[in-house]
Amino acid sequence: MTPRMSLDDVFLLLQSWLDRLVRRLRLGRAPTPGRRRLLVVQIDGLSRAVLERALAHGRMPFLKRLLERSGHRLVPMSVGLPTSTAAFQMAAMYGVRPDIPGFHYHDKRRRADVYFPRGGDAAWVEARHADGRRGIVAGGSTYGCVFTGGAANNLFNLATLKRPTGAGLIQTLSAAVVLLWVVIKSAIVSTIAIGRALLGFLADPVDAPRHWKLLVIKVAVSVWVRELFTLSASRDLYNGVPAVYVNYLDYDIVAHAYGPRDRRALRSLRSVDRSIQRLWRTARRVPEHGWDLYVLSDHGQAHCTPFDRLTGGRRLERVLFEDFLTPGGAHEVGPSRPEGRRVAAGIKAIRSGRAPGIVQRFMNYLEDDFPWLLGELKEARESGGVRVIAAGPNAFVYFLDQAEPLRLEDIEARFPALAEELSRNRGVGFVLARTGGGPVCFWRGKRYRLDELGEGPFTGRDDLALVARGIGDLMAMPSAGDLVIYGLQAPGGHVSYVAEIGAHAGPSVEEMQTFVVAPPGVALPGPLTHALQLYPHFARYQEAA
Ligand SMILES: [Zn+2]
Repeated sequence: MTPRMSLDDVFLLLQSWLDRLVRRLRLGRAPTPGRRRLLVVQIDGLSRAVLERALAHGRMPFLKRLLERSGHRLVPMSVGLPTSTAAFQMAAMYGVRPDIPGFHYHDKRRRADVYFPRGGDAAWVEARHADGRRGIVAGGSTYGCVFTGGAANNLFNLATLKRPTGAGLIQTLSAAVVLLWVVIKSAIVSTIAIGRALLGFLADPVDAPRHWKLLVIKVAVSVWVRELFTLSASRDLYNGVPAVYVNYLDYDIVAHAYGPRDRRALRSLRSVDRSIQRLWRTARRVPEHGWDLYVLSDHGQAHCTPFDRLTGGRRLERVLFEDFLTPGGAHEVGPSRPEGRRVAAGIKAIRSGRAPGIVQRFMNYLEDDFPWLLGELKEARESGGVRVIAAGPNAFVYFLDQAEPLRLEDIEARFPALAEELSRNRGVGFVLARTGGGPVCFWRGKRYRLDELGEGPFTGRDDLALVARGIGDLMAMPSAGDLVIYGLQAPGGHVSYVAEIGAHAGPSVEEMQTFVVAPPGVALPGPLTHALQLYPHFARYQEAA
């Protein structure tokens, strides 16, 4: 694979030359060569099984060649629970055991929800967990991640999305040459995509609105954002920044909408593959910087049925309050903190049409099909001191009068046989609770200890010990609900409590088992059974700096 010059490279070389010039004039010396540098490419949401299928079917030809000819190897990884980007990145970037039970949860001690897309929440969680530890991306760049990992420069990370650091935004945007090229190229690619879509609409006018929405997402995330990430990261590679962590979200987003094995999701892997190839070529062009390329995934996805399809439109929160908790008394609640109110006001501005035109339109399209991309808390309900949050294929029930997690005995004193009854619902797989003797799992109305899981919901799993450990870890998190409800393994197949076909957070094989593509000559700790194990390995690149 000899590096070949493309138009991208011409722009990047020009930009790199300008950067060096600026540095010489004002900012001192260039980064010191002579050590290995960490480049992590995360393909969000891609399970090992789907990756292997994509490789076998020629959907990721570059990655395949990398594995066959360049000495990179595919190492299996099981990621622990919950299977979500935030928990994974916290463990891998800082080496701390996360108290992050899902993508949306409640912190009883702080009396506030944590909802990652909402401004400030990710930054707060990161500061609290990191607690002064050095992240694996310290001094480098992160793109598309939940957390910064200590990066000096970051773009479109949830931790800084609503209030980006001056450095993060200005440095990246000031790379005018790169940006200009992204604009030109993305505009061309967008035009082609829209042209093709128009032909498709003519052929299939009935389904056109649905396709149009996917097209908007595709063009925004899969063309503009991916281009910006790839070119900005390439610029970092040329410049030899200390470390780079890029997260490509394309596959995860499409898989949420259509399912992890849908052809539209698989097709998005092709463009991600091309982006990885460009990063690789760039890295090879500057051997003096010693880039080590890792390609990994944070979790997979399970194919689900949305819960409200089973209940004639009733969401889980409603079913819980109406049928199990406080009949008739529930009401929707909004964010309780001032930040929450400010974001809510921002969303109101968008809804009422006071946001700029294109943003407004984009948000309107997102609102129906992709509510989790917006900072709204639709999936939370509270009544009579009980708060219910639906986060994905998982939901949390919190009893708010007590700041510490409530034990099953105390829950049953209020609502006898609640967990048992819930686990018999046809939209519920299993229900987790804490007892004096450790966590327990209710499945189809029966109670199992962690050492009995093989007789219950997880019969026949080779990785039973990892499932039990993951559930133990999850229920040890103070912020996990007093009851944790999973829709996975429900009687009629996996169920999610939000509007999505692909879902993740739970212990199914396809969610837990992912991979790391490791460069030649490095010894990963093995077997990889938790994201925490990646930290010391990746942190060594920082120590060598
Ligand atoms: Zn996801």
